[in-house]
Amino acid sequence: MTRALILGGTSDARLLADAVAHAGFEATYSYGGRTRAPATQPLPTRSGGFGGASGLAEYIRREKITHVIDATHPFAAEMSRNAVAACATTGARLIALERAPWAKAPGDKWIEVADLASAVTALPLTRTRVFLAIGRQHIAAFGAKPQHAYTLRFVDPPGEPLPFPDADVIVSRGPFAFESELDMMRSRRIEWIVARNSGGEGARAKIDAARELGLPVVMLKRPELPDRPRVESVAEVMQWLGHRACLGA
Ligand code: NAP
Repeated sequence: MTRALILGGTSDARLLADAVAHAGFEATYSYGGRTRAPATQPLPTRSGGFGGASGLAEYIRREKITHVIDATHPFAAEMSRNAVAACATTGARLIALERAPWAKAPGDKWIEVADLASAVTALPLTRTRVFLAIGRQHIAAFGAKPQHAYTLRFVDPPGEPLPFPDADVIVSRGPFAFESELDMMRSRRIEWIVARNSGGEGARAKIDAARELGLPVVMLKRPELPDRPRVESVAEVMQWLGHRACLGA
C-alpha cells in the first residue's frame, strides 16, 4: 500500500497535497515549521525537523512510508540532501517536485553568484537602495554592508532585530503581480535587487519588474544537490504515485 510523505514548504507542495487528498492516497504533509501561520492544505500534518537524515530514515521506517516527495523550496538544500540519504537507507522511493530555474532573458542585468557571501560582495560599496528578496533566515550576511537602505519582504513580521540600521519591512505573502512589484520598486526607489533563482511563476514578477526598470539583480544560483528523479508538475508526481486518472485509465 502507498503511504506518501510530502516534504512541503512551497505553493507547488500545497497543490500536490490537494491532488493527493483528492485521489484518496494515504499521505502526510511535513512543514519545516519556520512559518508561523503556514498556508493550509487538506492532508494530516507534522511539523519541524526530523533530526537529520537518520531521523528522517527512522520516521520513514516507523510510519511505513513508501514514497517521499521532496516539494521543498529549491534552496532548502539540507532537507533535500537528507531526503536522498534517508531514501537510500530505507528503500523508500523518492521524487523531487521542483520548478525549473528562471533563464536569463534579453534585458536582464543579472550578476549570478554561488553563495550569500558573493551576493554581499556584488553589492556596491556606496549607499544604494536594495530589495533583499531572499528570506528571513539568510539576511544576516548583509550586516557586512550596513550602509545600504534595505527593503525586505517576509511572510511573518521579523521577531529579532535586523542586522542593518536602514530596513523597510513589508509583511506579505505571495504570489505577487508584475504591476504591484513595479509600484513597490518605484515607490521605494529600489536600485538593486538580491534574489534567489527559485523559478516558477509566483515569485518571478519581481524579476520581470527589475528587467522593465533596468535594475541589476544579484541572482543566487541554486545549491548543488545529489542526483535524484525530478519532475516539474503535480500531474507527473501523481502519475509516479500510480494515480489512475493521470495514467489515462
Ligand atoms: P533547509 O536548510 O534545507 O532545512 C533545514 C532543516 O529544517 C532540515 O535539515 C530539516 O531539519 C528542517 N526542514 C526543512 N524543511 C522541512 C520540512 N518540509 N519538513 C520537516 N523538516 C524540514 O531548508 P530551509 O531553507 O530552512 O527551509 C525550511 C522550509 O521552508 C522548507 O520546507 C522550505 O521548502 C520552506 N521554504 C519555502 C520557501 C518559499 O518560498 N515557499 C522559501 C524558503 C523556504 P532536520 O534536519 O532536523 O530534519
